[in-house]
Amino acid sequence: MTFEELCLDPRILRAVTEMGFEQASPIQAKSIPIAVEGRDMIGQAQTGTGKTAAFGIPLLQRVDPHNKKLQAIVLCPTRELAIQSADEVRRLAKFMHGIKVLPVYGGQEISKQIRSLKGGVQVIIGTPGRVIDHINRRTLKLEQVGAIVLDEADEMLNMGFREDIETVLERLPEEHQTLLFSATMPKPILEIARNYLTNPETVKVIKKELTVPKIDQYYYEVNPRKKSEVLSRLLDMYDPELSLVFCNTKRKVDELVEDLKGRGYFAEGLHGDMKQSQRDRVMNGFRNGRTDILVATDVAARGIDVDDVEAVFNYDVPQDDEYYVHRIGRTGRAGRSGRAFTLVVGREIYKLKDIQRYCKTKIKRQPIPSMDDITDIKAEKVLEKAGGLIESENLGKLIDILEEHLDDKEYSSLEMAAALLMIQMGDNGAPELEKEDFGDTGAEPGMVRLFINIGKKHRVRIGDILGAIAGESGMEGELVGAIDMYDSYTFVEVPREYASEVIDAMKHAKIKGKQVNVEPANHK
Ligand code: AMP
Repeated sequence: MTFEELCLDPRILRAVTEMGFEQASPIQAKSIPIAVEGRDMIGQAQTGTGKTAAFGIPLLQRVDPHNKKLQAIVLCPTRELAIQSADEVRRLAKFMHGIKVLPVYGGQEISKQIRSLKGGVQVIIGTPGRVIDHINRRTLKLEQVGAIVLDEADEMLNMGFREDIETVLERLPEEHQTLLFSATMPKPILEIARNYLTNPETVKVIKKELTVPKIDQYYYEVNPRKKSEVLSRLLDMYDPELSLVFCNTKRKVDELVEDLKGRGYFAEGLHGDMKQSQRDRVMNGFRNGRTDILVATDVAARGIDVDDVEAVFNYDVPQDDEYYVHRIGRTGRAGRSGRAFTLVVGREIYKLKDIQRYCKTKIKRQPIPSMDDITDIKAEKVLEKAGGLIESENLGKLIDILEEHLDDKEYSSLEMAAALLMIQMGDNGAPELEKEDFGDTGAEPGMVRLFINIGKKHRVRIGDILGAIAGESGMEGELVGAIDMYDSYTFVEVPREYASEVIDAMKHAKIKGKQVNVEPANHK
């Protein structure tokens, strides 16, 4: 479904277009029409499905920008999620002048938050403890709050926030809308729904029976900044004649096409903003082999009728299981063999595991090909071609030239062959991406568990550690996984592809004035 069909406020529509969203994700298509009517709703959805916009858009439509009082509250389990969701809602509100959205969470100086709140904020997104703190101080006033969202409600309960959530719900004015989002629906969630929601509509994306084509599927855990480099390596390594690369937004399609062209690939993009004539030109190029790589959004790819796509690349993990199946179904057609590759960043691994579960398919993890792998494969290809020429061509004249040339030289014909091979293979100077393999540190899949020699007795808080890691390494805080703090030390999980960067960055870092030591955890 398109966002136009969801009858959005034109200012939100403009923001959504600028964000590059091409169609509403399934959870958005179902939730938005219910939520804009002001009804209570239970949405079963997890991160990565577009749930923030699913509640953010209806909230914004119902907020009055001329009223500077607090009108909507979003409760969420962690500070990272609060910051991340506030960013997303702000982007959606970009063209709605006069709307202020503020994240409030523990760990940040309360006086700073109070100052920001005084400026008049209509939407706050915060962790339950800190929200209650503000309510008690009367720095948050609930009289005009017309909507509340419980985001990742199951996570909030796991973290022990049930009482806090109930306190906030009880203090709201009688007339208000409640939207509850949760990946799972355990009993306590249903109890909250029964006690605090009025005739809620339940929304979840019904999973169809999905038949996954029998093709080889792989995934690679990547650093987000290295995605296009990894894609290039895979393209070089497998050298597919025709490939389809999927991105989640129109903007990504345009950016990636530019990047690939800059690297010398014959790539073109296809998305909904293009005129029919442009689309025809791109498709013709793809069909007659002028373009080897087509970069597309899910919507744009629907109209494509090419059979012999050798490889499908999910540059972004798809937002829905069904998209995954549609995407990879573009290869391996008509009895041909095909391959599908998915690039995964940090916790997107959970979305991928979900896809595997629902689609009952196996997606195998593979290491990112090293430069040596690429060199081997490129050389193999050139040598194979050369072997064919030896069979089919008369090389007498060229052999004479070589003999004459090598006559008085100090190098062997083998060295000469290797040098010619190098010329033929072209540029091999791609940057190194290989990272240390940390082995099993006892972390979740895709993560490395790090040991930090600072803990509770040094009066540090989890927020200090998170802030130091994000601040020093430049990695987004939301990518940090579990943090377990003990008296004199702390364990932190970070995505595998960032682990070396974090360790290096923390070498010079201080937390609460103390020089710290960070190393991979020992796991027995
Ligand atoms: P969420 O599930 O809210 O954490 O969203 C995951 C990511 O998907 C965010 O980066 C959003 O900006 C993005 N997103 C949300 N809705 C859409 C959409 N309709 N099309 C493409 N990307 C989207």
